[in-house]
This record gives sequence, C-alpha cells and structure tokens, in this order.
Amino acid sequence: MFKKLFLTTILIVVSSVSFAGVDDSVSSQPLGEPLDGLSCQEITSGGAKNINLSNADPKLLASDPSRIVMGRASTCYSNEISLLQSNLEDLGIEVIVRSDAMSYAPGLRAGEPGQMVIDPDASYSAWLHEYQHAMDDKAIGWGGMRTLGDSDLRWQWEQNAYEEEMKLMNSLGYQSVVEQLQRNLEAEKLKIYGETH
Ligand SMILES: [Zn+2]
Repeated sequence: MFKKLFLTTILIVVSSVSFAGVDDSVSSQPLGEPLDGLSCQEITSGGAKNINLSNADPKLLASDPSRIVMGRASTCYSNEISLLQSNLEDLGIEVIVRSDAMSYAPGLRAGEPGQMVIDPDASYSAWLHEYQHAMDDKAIGWGGMRTLGDSDLRWQWEQNAYEEEMKLMNSLGYQSVVEQLQRNLEAEKLKIYGETH
C-alpha cells in the first residue's frame, strides 16, 4: 500500500516537471478548414476575424489558439520563423521540430543555452512564445534546470511569452484569440502555483 502511494507520488512529481512552466501542452491539429480560401495577405492582415473559436478543438484552444486564425507558421510566416530559428541557433539553442510538442527547456547546467521543441504546425504566435522563453533565459545568463524550480520566475516567463502572443493578436484585431490567450495564461498560473503544495 505504502509502496503504491510512493510510486504514485513519484509519477506525479515527474509529470509536473515535464510540464514545468516553460513547457506548453500541445495539439497537432493542422491548419483548420476555416482558413481555406484566404490568402496569406489576408491572413497576415487580420482577414480571418470572422472565424468563430467556439467550434475549435478544445485541445488546440488550450495549446495554440492563434493557429485557428493564422494557420501554421510555415504557410504564411516562413521568412519570420527562419529568422527566429537562425537567431536561436546562433545563440547555441538547438531547435527541434516535433509533432505534438512545444516547449523551451533550459540547459542542463546553468550557463548553457537550452533547447526549443516546436510542432511543425505551430503558429507564428506560438513560435514567438517559445522564442520569448529563450530570450528570457538568455537575459539571466542561461539559468539551467534550476529555473524550473523557481515558480515566480516561471510565472514571469509565461507572462512575457503570452504578452508577445497577445500583442500580435491585438495588432491583427483577433480579440477573441486575445481573450483565449488570457484564459490560457490563467491556466498556466494554476499549473505553476497549484501543483506545488
Ligand atoms: Zn510557455
């Protein structure tokens, strides 16, 4: 009985570390139907305002709501993400493209840059989010894995990253996505502070 409880505790701890602060749960939902028929010029100038978020996959709403109105970054923002990727690689950050994953993991040791994992279908907004985590890590001189144990820092990083996403969505006039991002930010706060007791 005790052994079982002990094992359960370990599992919970492990799963909360893998979801720690700088990690974002993900959906591999591809470019949605609603964007069909819109050109990149329309999408990048806010032309998808009429898209109703209420029919969207809840998993996508929780992981990358901007994708619903701007599609995957590789479609209409390929130059922008190439630039982000080369900036990251110049800093020594490994960028791994992998389905169903989006995260920035600090380096194993303090002073070492981390690793960014990004879904091939991620939106430009999601790219900016993970990029911001990398920039925040750079700003503290590469904090290493200890960063994951600092709830206040993780919360600050999430606020900074969501701010980038909300700025972009605001500039394009996607107010309903801004509101969804706000809800996701609140959920991150619970994840960071709610699992530690
Ligand atoms: Zn994040």
